Amino acid sequence: MSLPQARVLRTEIPGPCSRELQQRRAATVASGVSSVLPVYVAEAAGGVLHDVDGNSLIDLGSGIAVTNVGNSAPEVVDPVRRQAGEFTHTCFMVTPYENYLQVCEELAALTPGDHDKRSALFNSGAEAVENAVKIARRATGRQAVVVFDHAYHGRTNLTMALTAKSVPYKHGFGPFAPEIYRVPMSYPARDARSGEQVAREAVERIDKQLGADSVAAVLIEPVQGEGGFIEPAPGFLPAISRWCTDNGVLFVADEIQTGFCRTGSWFACEHENVVPDLITTAKGIAGGLPLAAVTGRADIMDAMPPSSLGGTYGGNPLACAAALGAIRAMRERDLPAAARAIGDVAFPRLRALADGNDAIFDVRGRGAMIGVEFVKPGTTDPDPEVTARIAKTCHQQGVVVLTCGTYGNVIRLLPPLVIDHALLDEGLGVLESAIVEHTR
Ligand SMILES: *Cc1c(COP(=O)(O)O)cnc(C)c1O
Repeated sequence: MSLPQARVLRTEIPGPCSRELQQRRAATVASGVSSVLPVYVAEAAGGVLHDVDGNSLIDLGSGIAVTNVGNSAPEVVDPVRRQAGEFTHTCFMVTPYENYLQVCEELAALTPGDHDKRSALFNSGAEAVENAVKIARRATGRQAVVVFDHAYHGRTNLTMALTAKSVPYKHGFGPFAPEIYRVPMSYPARDARSGEQVAREAVERIDKQLGADSVAAVLIEPVQGEGGFIEPAPGFLPAISRWCTDNGVLFVADEIQTGFCRTGSWFACEHENVVPDLITTAKGIAGGLPLAAVTGRADIMDAMPPSSLGGTYGGNPLACAAALGAIRAMRERDLPAAARAIGDVAFPRLRALADGNDAIFDVRGRGAMIGVEFVKPGTTDPDPEVTARIAKTCHQQGVVVLTCGTYGNVIRLLPPLVIDHALLDEGLGVLESAIVEHTR
């Protein structure tokens, strides 16, 4: 890695140069676009971000689960440089090129299930989700889409409707797309019922509210991301998947955040041997370049008429070169194992801290997708204020952590899977001290 993997604080965070840029920003960038930590980045590599003030921050967010292979991974940068020198764009819908095919071949090989698959490439997660819904409706001839409490699927009009949380994602931005139905999600920390029991309730709601034969697809994050790193109780996903198969409903896994080694397997569905009909991927797929995909059963995907799918930039050759490099890095460096190793370090430490600290309601997640949920001590009431204070202290100490959750009361860690373990230890130490400081 081209930058020293160490935390170095030369100024307060954010420093004077970042603060100056932040002021300039207010006059030119739309205020609806926010930044978790307004530290302006000059350079990044592996698990560190170097800012414009000469500080080096520990990255425990990976740009929201994107730089799984580390920032500016050589396996990504070199092929992108090469590709940029060859050609930058032709539009796959005008004159195609080989690396688009190679990405689709990799997706077919890596995603769950050994059936015949086809993929289509897009630019963002939301665009992939939009297309998965579009494909499911056309392939089934049905319109309804079932989604879950706490779900997050994006910020475009259709994906806002699919997303659960009102503020900041939806409030005032309607009207929303029709034919979206929301059902309960298994949330083990707040619901003692088994996965099968919650799945039964979800299915009963569908049957009562609209009838299975109206449903094109059930769309689900196998571990919810923005909604709070909620991992459903065992049995929930398989029961939903079985019901889909029995009723001609497509099971669509949104693995945009969980995919590409994050949870300790290539895809989170593998944990319970669930094989989705369609799977959406983005974030971790291309080491930081914008790329997304819908991958699915060949009979479903190929039911789309010619020219019905696509987009000017979808499967851009630079993004495809990046994806092939990132996937090679994931394979060669065994990043599913690296994600498990991160979890093996983080979970025992955070669970030990939770022991006897009744502000910590739950420590959960899988692999390198790690969440800590905070409540007002002695209650189950979410405590977003203390969560924000803990995050802020981490930021001031040069450790990038993110928050999430319907109630904004979850600290989430998504470290680059290649992170140096000394750096990880140091970042966790800062988080632990911040938790102790604010929950004492
Ligand atoms: C981030 C995310 C999306 C949206 O992806 P964008 O690239 O931001 O459009 C959709 N689904 C899940 C599960 C996500 O985490």
